[in-house]
Amino acid sequence: MERHIAIIGAMDEEVEALSQSLTSAALDSSPFQDLPVFTGYLADQKAVVVRCGIGKVHAALAAQYIIDRYNPSFLINSGVAGGLSPQVRIGDLVLGTSSIQHDFDVRNFGYAKGVIPRLATSTFTADPHLLELAHRAAKEVLAPEKIHRGLIVSGDQFVSSLEQRQEITAHFPEALCVEMEGAAIAQVASVNSVPHLILRAISDQADNTAPRDFDEYLLEVIPLLNKVIHRLAALLKD
Ligand code: SAH
Repeated sequence: MERHIAIIGAMDEEVEALSQSLTSAALDSSPFQDLPVFTGYLADQKAVVVRCGIGKVHAALAAQYIIDRYNPSFLINSGVAGGLSPQVRIGDLVLGTSSIQHDFDVRNFGYAKGVIPRLATSTFTADPHLLELAHRAAKEVLAPEKIHRGLIVSGDQFVSSLEQRQEITAHFPEALCVEMEGAAIAQVASVNSVPHLILRAISDQADNTAPRDFDEYLLEVIPLLNKVIHRLAALLKD
């Protein structure tokens, strides 16, 4: 069977150009309200592009639906995020080596923040092959100092204050960026044994100017992300 890649983005802005660049493009029907699914080819690679909506529930629902309906060989989550580490600046790219839900909190029963009780692991690891190819693709698009690899944390909150930021970095000091969907997609991909990768361009620094920065840089940073995805699709085809 022909290999298929699935790309999930939360917002229209994150999937619009990608879906428009598909060849033999079609808008597929989906049983869910407000879950646009575009099919076609990306760099000659069969692809499905989905706009899932914001937050972990939307992300998980879309991921499971896409896996059931299209049986993708790879699941990629593409979008923007707030930088947490001082080295990670607006316009940089983060390749997630793994992801955690930073807002999962059962500490009252002695679990560390982010730990999902009764699950073998709460840290979801990206597919190493996909990660290596994405890194190669990224190096064709961006200067090396703008590319970072490491932990991505997700939660149902837009992080835009020092307090929120510190709460996260205190528990996850190695986290490079924060967003609202990646770890949910990663969890669904992992339980289905579908290789996954989270790719995020930095739109803000998760601080008190984040809402303004997000609005200002969103459309500026997405094209570079899309370039990386096009290159990645081409490398996957080779
Ligand atoms: N302005 C939007 C809401 C954006 S929510 C609206 O009004 O509809 C932020 C989105 O970008 C989420 O999908 C999340 O994954 C990502 N994101 C970017 N910066 C973030 C931050 N600082 N904290 C959390 N998520 C962030």
